[in-house]
Amino acid sequence: MNGHRQILRTDPSGQPIGWVEYPEAARLLVLGEVCYASGSILYRLRGGINARSGRQSRLDVHAILATRIDDTHRSWLYRSYVPPLSNAALFRRDARICLYCGRRFPQTLLSRDHVRPLSRGGEDSWTNSVTACKRCNNRKAGRTPEEAGMALLAVPFAPTHAEYIYLKGKRIVADQMDFLRARFPRESPLHARLAGGHA
Ligand SMILES: [Zn+2]
Repeated sequence: MNGHRQILRTDPSGQPIGWVEYPEAARLLVLGEVCYASGSILYRLRGGINARSGRQSRLDVHAILATRIDDTHRSWLYRSYVPPLSNAALFRRDARICLYCGRRFPQTLLSRDHVRPLSRGGEDSWTNSVTACKRCNNRKAGRTPEEAGMALLAVPFAPTHAEYIYLKGKRIVADQMDFLRARFPRESPLHARLAGGHA
């Protein structure tokens, strides 16, 4: 029905857990793992014919499914939780904009720049990593921004779990966006971005 829409899975209290493809969502529904569903219907799956009623069963898969979950999947509840750093999520955090020259690039022309270079004791972490076009990254080389005379356009931040799920999402539908956005921290830089339509 909707190509490759993903379903946002949450725990029963509405904490986002992550994205699932529709076969996994259907499995959760059939197994009775879904506590409640909300949002628009993304998929309508047809099942078998009920012998008694003669009706074909139907399975509606909504945009957001609250499911049972065991505590081993809740690592983000710990205060020290930091989502894993990947280039894809990093570039999405920075809206594919080079934080040195301020221009937007396709992913293939972007790179992960370590603000304080690894060779100088910098960490490979969210707060020491920014999106940089390959040209700016080469120019900066093994220097700090101050040494290179290249000012950073934004302060790099580590996303919260809800922000990270947003950054990992593909073709997020409006219901899911609203749901996640309501769980971003108030000071999240992503609010302004989403308001500006640069998702
Ligand atoms: Zn650049």
